[in-house]
Amino acid sequence: MTENIAANRETMGFQTEVKQLLQLMIHSLYSNREIFLRELVSNASDACDKLRFEALHNATLFENDTDLHIRVSYDKEARTLTISDNGIGMNRDEVINNLGTIAKSGTREFFSRLSGDQQKDANLIGQFGVGFYSSFIVADKVVVTTRRAGEQADQGVRWESDGGGEFSIEMLENAARGTSITLHLRADQDDLLSGHKIRSIIHKYSDHIVQPILMKKEEWKEDGQAITDEDETVNQASALWARPKNEISDDEYKAFYKHVGHDYEEPLAWIHARVEGHQEYTQLLYIPAHAPFDMYDRNTRHGVKLYVRRVFIMDDAEQLLPTYLRFVRGIVDSSDLPLNVSREILQESKDIEAIRAGCTKKVLGLLEDMAANDKDKYARFWDEFGQVLKEGAAEDFANKEKIAALLRFASTHADNNEATVSLPDYIARMKDGQDKVYYITAETFNAAKNSPHLEVFRKKGIEVLLLSDRVDEWVVSSLTEFAGKQLVSVAKGGLDLGKLEDQAEKQEQEKQASDHKDLTEKIKASLAERVKEVRVTHRLTDSPACLVADEHDMGGNLARMLKAAGQKAPATQPILEINANHPVVMRLKEEEKHFDDWAAVLFDQALLAEGGQLDDPAGFVKRINHLMLEMRAG
Ligand code: ADP
Repeated sequence: MTENIAANRETMGFQTEVKQLLQLMIHSLYSNREIFLRELVSNASDACDKLRFEALHNATLFENDTDLHIRVSYDKEARTLTISDNGIGMNRDEVINNLGTIAKSGTREFFSRLSGDQQKDANLIGQFGVGFYSSFIVADKVVVTTRRAGEQADQGVRWESDGGGEFSIEMLENAARGTSITLHLRADQDDLLSGHKIRSIIHKYSDHIVQPILMKKEEWKEDGQAITDEDETVNQASALWARPKNEISDDEYKAFYKHVGHDYEEPLAWIHARVEGHQEYTQLLYIPAHAPFDMYDRNTRHGVKLYVRRVFIMDDAEQLLPTYLRFVRGIVDSSDLPLNVSREILQESKDIEAIRAGCTKKVLGLLEDMAANDKDKYARFWDEFGQVLKEGAAEDFANKEKIAALLRFASTHADNNEATVSLPDYIARMKDGQDKVYYITAETFNAAKNSPHLEVFRKKGIEVLLLSDRVDEWVVSSLTEFAGKQLVSVAKGGLDLGKLEDQAEKQEQEKQASDHKDLTEKIKASLAERVKEVRVTHRLTDSPACLVADEHDMGGNLARMLKAAGQKAPATQPILEINANHPVVMRLKEEEKHFDDWAAVLFDQALLAEGGQLDDPAGFVKRINHLMLEMRAG
């Protein structure tokens, strides 16, 4: 590529985040410096894929050169290493955006999580993705020349930077299609100026790249002249997924993952299968070890790539897997879809529906297998992706039972904040006579664990699932049954423990209800609109009162979540349940003068105990102070 530099050089500053990333990376990733080559080759490969795809609709982009490849060369005297491709290239705006900013969502969160500890930060940077900027681990000057496919020869762009705060950019008058990246190596990087060394790095990290990676053949005459000027292909240059499984090593699978997943770490697990029959396709799907920074962003890039007969069609083909499996990375290669398939066509395609169902089944099968045979690994999976998988229990009707069995919850069984209990575990240890799965939802684990609603369950040794993830309310609203057992909130409706209570207990409850009829009516009259009903409870052993939602009303936790999210929650009144055996309630029976204050405090403390917010906090404080003074006086 001749550089005919026009006098149009402009200097620009990197986005602040890029500056931070550059500084960090050079130090934290130094011990792993070889990865720069993997990143640059991976980008070059993506660029070739993109060109092949765009050319499906516009063949002139090939400019009569359809032989896509990547070239790696070095120059001992100039101390440079060059990686070039004849892929899609970039125009001026693209260069400025792609090589001057970080467009990823989650960038701010990423920087806020850095600790200053090199080892930890190196891992984080890896998860974040280092990409092009990793060049500066080994280079103190990087020059990029590029021209976008289809543009005139004088639309080339030259970018240069020393990795400090700035880069320069200028137009080139004569540039070949594609991108060429020249690294001016740092003083201590001379060992990279060796054909042997470069080949070995390519074998290690980039063997699976589909395009040929070309290097000059290295045969020398005795006088040091090169014998030949020929190129040779130094990688396998075949689609990894198309090879038979038994010929692919774990290391090859892992290396391929790092390329498709844009991940620096090894994957947690993968599944590689060829499906034959009505639809023929190959799937190579990976579960990452860590959640990406942008997992909760539904527009994440780099999901599953779609290929048709080895030709790359698109990144992040969201139709290939349901949203709740958006953490999966990998490829699907179809033998049947047309090459000119577009996102619009995919949305309507019955063939894609079949592929999607097949991929979903395979991933769930992989998880089931992991949960059954490698509990530690599954626990790691759950920590990272459990929240997202939970969406599936609410979303994927066809696989609901399967997904439900994969869910893990905290419960009163272990009473710690570790989600280790599955629904089958729970059911296996249900008490004699128990026919329901009990749960409580609350804003935090502690609020769930310490909720007064659990008192009778604790007394009777009945396990209750403790749900405190935001998505849990959504899960239980559609997962109302598992294996024929109803899932029931302990904070909703009248508590019917069925056979878990004996005849004597039931009679005692009825007696208490009629004995306290006057009291509950009086409290109801005092609290008026604030409650739907006041009744004697058998849920409580230690607390004087609690609130419950009526059977078909929205629960308090969900209503609070909706409000916090700025949404409207239907105005429902809770039911106040009082513990007739509690001294405070007994005392209330005698109260004349301050009855209204006592009733209000009883209601407010029940609301506070379940994590609710008081309507009139100052009024509450005033009443409490009043009662405290009265106690001293009495
Ligand atoms: P990532 O690859 O994760 O997007 P990078 O920092 O490696 O992040 O690259 C940023 C962007 O620069 C890429 O998304 C791509 O658009 C562009 N880019 C990088 N290398 C090339 C290349 N060889 N050819 C064309 N575009 C490239």
